[in-house]
Amino acid sequence: MVLERSIAKFEAFLKGMVFDCKSCGQCVLAKTELICPMTCPKGLRNGPCGGTTDEKCEVYPDKSCTWVRILKKRNLSNKYNSNNCIASPDPSLFHSSSLLNRLSNKDVAAKEFLPPLELPKDKKFLGLQTESLLELRLKTGKFIHTCEIRAPREATYKTVHRDIKYLKDEFDAVNATAYLNGTPSLPSTKVAAEIRRLGVESISQSTCRDLTKTSFIAELLENMMNGVNNQLCLTGDAYAGNPKIKQVFDMDSSLMLYEARYLRENGVINFTKQKLKKIPKPFLGAAINPFSKPDFVPLQRLKQKIATGADFIQTQLILDIETFKSFMEKVCIEKLDREIFILAGIPVIISKTAFNMLPKIPGVVLPQHIKERFEQCSDIKAEGIKFAKELLLSCKKIKGVSGVHLMLFGSDHSVLPEVIRKEEIKSSVKQNKEKTYVTS
Ligand code: SF4
Repeated sequence: MVLERSIAKFEAFLKGMVFDCKSCGQCVLAKTELICPMTCPKGLRNGPCGGTTDEKCEVYPDKSCTWVRILKKRNLSNKYNSNNCIASPDPSLFHSSSLLNRLSNKDVAAKEFLPPLELPKDKKFLGLQTESLLELRLKTGKFIHTCEIRAPREATYKTVHRDIKYLKDEFDAVNATAYLNGTPSLPSTKVAAEIRRLGVESISQSTCRDLTKTSFIAELLENMMNGVNNQLCLTGDAYAGNPKIKQVFDMDSSLMLYEARYLRENGVINFTKQKLKKIPKPFLGAAINPFSKPDFVPLQRLKQKIATGADFIQTQLILDIETFKSFMEKVCIEKLDREIFILAGIPVIISKTAFNMLPKIPGVVLPQHIKERFEQCSDIKAEGIKFAKELLLSCKKIKGVSGVHLMLFGSDHSVLPEVIRKEEIKSSVKQNKEKTYVTS
């Protein structure tokens, strides 16, 4: 035992000097281009979060993003299929000797790539895979509108009831956002259930920052019970508050998708191998930041999220339409638009205070001309609606975009239907198409 501890200390010292090693005890340097993934403050094992801006880290903006560095080196060497995921690290091995763990095979499960999910090609064109109305609507070919309601930060659904009445019959689905920057609120699962109870298709959001694998599967079961059939799997932004609170990161977003999709496909919980009688079959969503640098990063992330089971994407908010267009061109060249539905994130900026928040959002780059446009306008609400409508019309013309996801910067949800109104397909047409859609 004393010898083991001494070896671990010596190894930590040596590898700390050379690789800035964080002593996870299950070294994956050989798979991460000799850059320690544990230097990422979120401890992500399979790629960058959406918060990286200009190749810098969301949490420590003076440092380079660990995963951008890894992907840059990997892109040059192109050694192996980067869509494969490494499993979550085993916490019981932290601060032990990686060398000894290797010799005793204790680290095998945490170091190997997970077996790829066997998913069919051209997934967008398969018959219905879930009971999600959002899936049904996307597969009928309708241009989709989604938006979001923030979970109340008090023990009442009052604001949900107030806001949903503007969105009902106008939007195809509504996200229940929760725990922004780690701030406590009602859980997303509860608010998504309430939205569903009020007759609106809802999307529940889970973050790796807040959940263990066990609590994530519990959320899937809760959503199934409440008829919430859409699940967004997110990394989660860094806690903004002080004091700093422990962040979970038992999974990264790709592993979270993998867990959910594995369960949906096999009826078995991947990490316990327990078989379930009634299987949660959520329509799975993920986020992508098309503005992450270098340009190949968002594309690689998209490929990985397709491989780990995502059905649809809601993108980071778009302020630079030209960059988004060139991202979508690459998506279509690689035929990824046949594999996944992409909903473009559209900001609806209706208040000065909210506008000033934009540059502080992880992963958001505010172009100078947009900054000036909003600074010089006399009526920010009117300008924000106009800007959102312009973006929406542009997105509608981009090949591979299946819809838009409106993100409100302000608190008056009554403006949201105004943004999409001219884009609406009459609900009767929509319903007729839904009725005639043939499931496989
Ligand atoms: S930007 Fe995100 S992925 Fe990159 S190092 Fe920071 S926390 Fe990790």
